[in-house]
Amino acid sequence: MSVLTRITGTLAEARPLRDAALYELVRVGARGLLGEIIRFRGDTATLQIYEDTTGLTVGAPVTPTGASLAATLGPGLLGSVLDGVGRPLAQLPGDFIAAGATAPTLDPDRRWTFTPSRARGDRVEPGDVVGTVREHARFEHRVLVPPGVRGTIASIDPGDAKIDDPIAILEDGTAITLAQRWPIRTPRPVAARLRADRPLVTGQRILDFLFPLAEGGTIAVPGGFGTGKTVVEHALAKFADADVVVFVGCGERGNEMAEVLDEFPKLVDPVTGRSVMERTVLVVNTSNMPVVAREASVYLGVTIAEYYRDMGYRALVLVDSLSRWAEALRDIAARLQEMPGEEGYPTSMASRLGAFYERAGRARTLCGREGAVTLACAISPPGGDFSEPVTQASLRVAGGVWALDAQLARARQFPAVDWGTSYSLYADALAPALAAATDARWPQLRARVIALLQRDAELREIASLLGADEMEPADRLVLAIASLVREHLLGQNAFDPNDATSPLAKTATMAALAIDAHDAFARALQAGDHELEELPIDRFRAAFAAVRRAAPADVETRARAAREILP
Ligand code: ADP
Ligand code: MG
Repeated sequence: MSVLTRITGTLAEARPLRDAALYELVRVGARGLLGEIIRFRGDTATLQIYEDTTGLTVGAPVTPTGASLAATLGPGLLGSVLDGVGRPLAQLPGDFIAAGATAPTLDPDRRWTFTPSRARGDRVEPGDVVGTVREHARFEHRVLVPPGVRGTIASIDPGDAKIDDPIAILEDGTAITLAQRWPIRTPRPVAARLRADRPLVTGQRILDFLFPLAEGGTIAVPGGFGTGKTVVEHALAKFADADVVVFVGCGERGNEMAEVLDEFPKLVDPVTGRSVMERTVLVVNTSNMPVVAREASVYLGVTIAEYYRDMGYRALVLVDSLSRWAEALRDIAARLQEMPGEEGYPTSMASRLGAFYERAGRARTLCGREGAVTLACAISPPGGDFSEPVTQASLRVAGGVWALDAQLARARQFPAVDWGTSYSLYADALAPALAAATDARWPQLRARVIALLQRDAELREIASLLGADEMEPADRLVLAIASLVREHLLGQNAFDPNDATSPLAKTATMAALAIDAHDAFARALQAGDHELEELPIDRFRAAFAAVRRAAPADVETRARAAREILP
């Protein structure tokens, strides 16, 4: 029998352990703590243990389970709150979330009404849909043939089933159940990868307009402490246009997740009229929970997203923050006394981070539908220094960067996305779809606003040297319009109900209004009938601010009122 020979915190060694595989799960000690084999040396295995190891002693028995760390995938995931290895969490009164003991991910006793879509005698392949259950009143959960399973259906019955009851049996005796298990470190297969040419509307004007995200795309959100990473990630979780959102709270403060748990169930999705929580899975490994489970939590999150993608849904994975995941790798590597790479991170960190980003994408699923896994990861570089390894590794693989800037945050310009250094490689591919959805001028308006902001930066530099009074009226007009663009088009207050999210139409209306205002005022200046000071720029600015604060139904009326002010 294999026993523990050494314990340091959540890392342990067991010997002799031969008939087990790397990344196989083990049960440790009398309490059966969950652990994973992360290294072999001869017949000595290194284990990382996902639970509090207090009281564990050398000599305690270690039993391989034959399984690797896997996600349980099935109806009931939506709305759940899981720890890094998939156990449901309890929210304690106050600001605390408690780790689960050995509870299963999904309620094994809950009954779901299964409606078959295939019949006896049908041949099914991996990923095929054999029927549905209602996960929520308006969410159809498609029951998939697990990867690797194929054959002819011998029996399939409608009716109530628990997640582990066979709902269909193949001729070779294989049972298909509502739930399936999938090893979290292995990407789930797809039929084909598709181009990321559909916008994922975030509801944040500066993002949708300047740095748009594609369905199946990847975005890195680096920012120092207090620059608004969490606020951006929460805004995406609440308002982004996705069917399913998996939020991985990775190593950040527990009270932030407790806030999410308070707030999300009360938020109503304007499209479906249902609680936002009903499309959300929270994976929580906050700073007070075991570090090793933090390493696993991002894989659990993306596996759940892949599962919904495989049903043909558009899933969005949010990680706050990927830096804490990388720090967990560093912690584990240090304790394993591996040769450290840059800043102590293991040399494999960048390639593992790249492999994680690779799991995003728009795809044709095995069942022939289209689905997507989109990824937006906050990164918290120490001291806000973007040259550090985790930020750099992310910049190399992500399709875009929303760089949050401490100076903008200090100036209360929120979201503090630095328009000078942020970018989206999807912008060109998405332009036709965004123009079709809003205003044919969208790409031109975007180019104009970018040019305006660049000119604004130059002029402000000059103004700081010479004073604005010395400037040409046309330049002072640029400063005035750029100022309202920065404050009201790019700025968005997460705590104002009418401003927290902006439909694409409102974003397009505001962008067109700002550019048209610039051009109208510039024409009036050029015609020479007015001095800059005589133009109603301040009145326009107030009217523009009113458009920003308008409820969706009033946006067009407010925009017309603002247009009437223009010369
Ligand atoms: P980080 O996660 O980067 O440390 P947070 O997301 O917690 O930073 O943001 C810090 C603070 O910045 C918030 O508590 C809030 O006061 C302010 N803030 C960030 N984004 C916005 C926003 N869009 N609107 C209003 N305030 C914001
Ligand atoms: Mg934060």
